[in-house]
Amino acid sequence: MEFDAKAMREKYRLEREKRLRDDANEQYIEISGEYAHFIDDPYSEPGFSREPLERDVNVVLIGGGFGGLQAGARLREAGVEDICIVEKGGDFGGTWYWNRYPGAQCDVESYIYMPLLEELNYIPTQKYARGAEILAHAQAIGRHYNLYEDALFQTQVTETRWDATINRWIVSTDRGDTLRARFIAMANGPLSKPKLPGIPGIEDFSGHSFHTSRWDYDYTGGDADGGLDRLAGKRIALIGTGATALQCVPHLGEAAGHLYVFQRTPSGVDVRNNAQTDMEWTESLKPGWQRQRMENFNALICGVPQAEDLVNDGWTDLIGKMIRVFRESRRQDLDGKAISEIMEAVNFEKMNEIRARVDELIGDPVTAESLKPYYRMFCKRPCFHDEYLQTFNRDNVTLVDTDGQGVERITESGLVVDGVEYEVDCIIYSTGYEVGTSYASRTGYEIYGEGGQSLSEKWEDGARTLHGMFVHGFPNCFIMSQTQGGFTVNYPHMLDELAAHIAHVIRHAQDHDIERIEATESAESQWVQTIIDKGMNGGALGGEDCTPSYYNNEGKPNDRIRQGMPYGDGPIAFFALLKAWREEGKFDGLELG
Ligand code: NDP
Repeated sequence: MEFDAKAMREKYRLEREKRLRDDANEQYIEISGEYAHFIDDPYSEPGFSREPLERDVNVVLIGGGFGGLQAGARLREAGVEDICIVEKGGDFGGTWYWNRYPGAQCDVESYIYMPLLEELNYIPTQKYARGAEILAHAQAIGRHYNLYEDALFQTQVTETRWDATINRWIVSTDRGDTLRARFIAMANGPLSKPKLPGIPGIEDFSGHSFHTSRWDYDYTGGDADGGLDRLAGKRIALIGTGATALQCVPHLGEAAGHLYVFQRTPSGVDVRNNAQTDMEWTESLKPGWQRQRMENFNALICGVPQAEDLVNDGWTDLIGKMIRVFRESRRQDLDGKAISEIMEAVNFEKMNEIRARVDELIGDPVTAESLKPYYRMFCKRPCFHDEYLQTFNRDNVTLVDTDGQGVERITESGLVVDGVEYEVDCIIYSTGYEVGTSYASRTGYEIYGEGGQSLSEKWEDGARTLHGMFVHGFPNCFIMSQTQGGFTVNYPHMLDELAAHIAHVIRHAQDHDIERIEATESAESQWVQTIIDKGMNGGALGGEDCTPSYYNNEGKPNDRIRQGMPYGDGPIAFFALLKAWREEGKFDGLELG
């Protein structure tokens, strides 16, 4: 090692200490009441009205993002009819419907990230497609599988309640609908409710403000490709420097009179290397190529050696390299060093590379030092961009580094950090999404199972499921999420595995006139114990001693959070477990009636 590991460890510890706060996840402001306008839909006409519906439905899918669409697609393929997707946005797309900020692009390669490419005979135009193309693809999936037919848009589910007398879910909406559903599947997405920072005085600001997930193009001008011409001469504050902020900063920097980026913790920003799709390559593709590519990527990021790295990007390089060293070290016990020491060294090296990149790209040494992340890789979501860092070389862009403390105060006319007030015309909040709050707060509706118990109550001390999908006391109900399931950074891959599973179970129920499917209490308890025993990283995606973020309950992982972690043996083992369960055909752990 060419660096002092002990000194680095101490630096990481000190940087983490600075950021720990007693209020942890309580520091944020829920968007409701006086803040509710922050989540109004800027993309659809608000005046739309229709008569309330009252009808029987075979399957209600809550959420029209990739989760709902993939479930709908696999159900259609399995011959299941009468599917109704209920979606609060004005169209399909989910996160890609809401996130239309300038520069939005996928971070996982589009050839594996965008679902059902072969089914739709579509090839993305770039290795990392732009948001508009991904949104258009979501809509194309809706058309291809005829999912528009019964979809209810601009409709928010307000409650779903199990009626044991008729074995149906009564799904109520804000448009007065009553749907009697045989099955429901919740595809709400893991990061769907934006949040605001709990900065004192936030309500006093008299200028303009919005959250990145509801971009106000009326105010900024331009579109998702940039050209934000109405920002000329304006002083703009952006709060936050996560994966979202990174993508819009270059456009804001180009257009604003002055841009102030308020940073609490810098992201690690690796090379992006986007490219147009090579048409010759697309012609060489053989049927089954997308699944093969998805599995190749997933294997590499799980440390399973492959003959070839098909995706060959920052993810496979990073994770693959680290995990390969880990596996090899286990075999050879390199120089008798502890495995954890070797992993730590690889991690230090990778982060040194990322910090060196900042020095290469940033002219001013003080700004460069502020932009360097001092924490382990995967403590926060790794980011990839080729223009973000360079934006701070512009004369009209100022990085306001809060040294881990966040914005001190917001006034009527600006933001205060370290006693200095920065007057601005507009504040853009790039401050992320609710994680770890109650189910009802994140989704906007409560789900009441057998005997009227709510899911939030049932999960008060931690999630309880079988395979992350079935819940005892909540029959005929499927959850699509990574909680107690198989998390992979290629999230739609996981959704497809869940969609196939749901389609299999519903098809079976349909073929055998099964009215009611429910996880048994003992199967649920066993699965919860399995999740705890396999204990993924002590309850934090990056590790317990990481700098605070939504990956570790803002630095305070607890038993409740630990219980909601994904399956500790990783996504490959989890997907294999589901497949074996289906093939066995015993529906183990479920009571079918
Ligand atoms: P994040 O939660 O990652 O970032 C929120 C930002 O707000 C952080 O930089 C945080 O600082 C900062 N912040 C919060 N409170 C304050 C405060 N009081 N003062 C100053 N700063 C504050 O949200 P994002 O929307 O960036 O990303 C969320 C997730 O969405 C990503 O992790 C990723 O999974 C996904 N995403 C994916 C993309 C893609 O695939 N293309 C693009 C964008 C997002 P701190 O770090 O100190 O907490």
